[in-house]
Amino acid sequence: MKILIRNCTLVSMSQKRPQIEKNIDILIENDIISKIDKNIIEKNIDKIIDANENVIMPGLINCHCHVAMSIFRETVDGYITQDWLTEKIWPKEAKLTEKDIYEASLLSFKEMIETGTTTVNDMYFFPEETAKAAIESGVRIQLTDTLMDLNGYEAGEKKINSTLNLIKKYKDNPLVSVNFGLHGFYTSSKEYSKRVINLARSNNLNLHVHFCENSQEVSDISSSYHQKPVEVLEELIPESKVILAHSVKLTDEDLDKMKEIKADISIASCPVSNLRLGCGVAPLTKMEEVGLNICLGTDGQGSGSNLDMFEEMKLAALLQKGINENPKLMPAYNILKMATINGAKALGMDKKIGSIEVGKKADLILIDMTSTITTPINNLISELVYNIKGSNVKMTMVDGKILMER
Ligand SMILES: [Zn+2]
Repeated sequence: MKILIRNCTLVSMSQKRPQIEKNIDILIENDIISKIDKNIIEKNIDKIIDANENVIMPGLINCHCHVAMSIFRETVDGYITQDWLTEKIWPKEAKLTEKDIYEASLLSFKEMIETGTTTVNDMYFFPEETAKAAIESGVRIQLTDTLMDLNGYEAGEKKINSTLNLIKKYKDNPLVSVNFGLHGFYTSSKEYSKRVINLARSNNLNLHVHFCENSQEVSDISSSYHQKPVEVLEELIPESKVILAHSVKLTDEDLDKMKEIKADISIASCPVSNLRLGCGVAPLTKMEEVGLNICLGTDGQGSGSNLDMFEEMKLAALLQKGINENPKLMPAYNILKMATINGAKALGMDKKIGSIEVGKKADLILIDMTSTITTPINNLISELVYNIKGSNVKMTMVDGKILMER
């Protein structure tokens, strides 16, 4: 299958290319981007997409989500995370069937595709059902189960074994990869957390974990581990690849310490969910200053309402400018990186996705720039971060397949 995209404005997010290029053609052969040039001449094209007046950019990468939580949309008003989980979510989750997870995941994948997200880092129960829905929907997913030993030693061990089986099962799948997902340090004993982290490390896989989402979590970790959360990281994660979701309640001193840990740490910030649950604002400016890899996530729709990554981009930028009273912070291009190439780095997939480059997988989106709200375009990069919504995405392609074309 050969697809030729003609005459687009390209925001490739590649370090080797200019930020914006005009009148560009992109040739896609099967799942791979094979040529990027002006006026490509090529025979036997199966489909031509005229992208005049449209932007092509890499598909967005959602680095923290609970895909099947579409069914919990708008169940959160007035709760902090822990009360919302124990009173509203966990009792209902205990009754969810495999079929519920499959169908709720399908709904979320449709939403992702329609709003320009091509890859998601998930954490939820019955991950195999979500994997099945991802393969049917055609999206890329990094899957993690919700590992914890809160419900006893046996339940914890069962989860570990099921993750090990999933890793084997999806080892060669082009769309699905499996990692270790620890729900949080506050819902697992130290011994169990250590075991999960060691397994992730010895299998050379990512650990995906909720971390310091709110003050309550910080005090819960401190009282059960008798260590500050950052000290837990210092002890447990050296030589590991870790995606820390949220990381809201971290001080400057904590972040200076985190920088010294010899580990591959990424922060998946979810500003919408953090505000909705009254957690606070993650110190992204300081994180950027100490050189941590920052990416973005929506969290589940239960606390994030939707999976529109454009909302997360806008809010991430505005919050940092606002709370620090400095409009120079978080330039728009840095924010775009968080939603694309930084996300790919966090997932260990930056050689494959995250930017539009020859040889990379064809995961890309086409954005309609002809609508009223995008007229006139004075600064395209700012336009993408502050003014575009998921609904402006006109075409979504994953692995060279067009999944949505408006
Ligand atoms: Zn979460």
